[in-house]
Amino acid sequence: MSDCLFCRIVAGEIPAEVVARTPGTVAFRDIDPKAPTHVLVVPTDHVDDAAALGAGHGAMLAELVATARSVAEAEGVASSGYRLVFNVGDDAGNTVAHLHLHLLGGRSLDWPPG
Ligand code: AMP
Ligand code: ZN
Repeated sequence: MSDCLFCRIVAGEIPAEVVARTPGTVAFRDIDPKAPTHVLVVPTDHVDDAAALGAGHGAMLAELVATARSVAEAEGVASSGYRLVFNVGDDAGNTVAHLHLHLLGGRSLDWPPG
């Protein structure tokens, strides 16, 4: 059994509110939402973070973004706008070491983020 939290959510070993699945991605609601829509899109295969990505991850990245787009449409935020974020390292507040794309929307989002 993996000790990675998001690998365990992907495997269904830890419950999460899953909103979309594709062959290579799972999207689920953030447990501590920072916006009315706050969904995490993760690859089914473990990657530590965005700094660990290489040329071979192109298709996986495209699938992550495509899943985020379709969740944004389903959540009704595609036309109002949304933000996609990868946090890397301590100063960005990265806490879970499994790549995850934050999808935030449903309100006006501060820029730059606090
Ligand atoms: P990051 O700070 O970029 O590493 O984001 C990790 C995110 O995972 C945070 O926004 C947390 O609220 C969220 N999170 C942590 N545990 C869970 C969980 N069990 N289910 C859903 N989201 C989680
Ligand atoms: Zn993992």
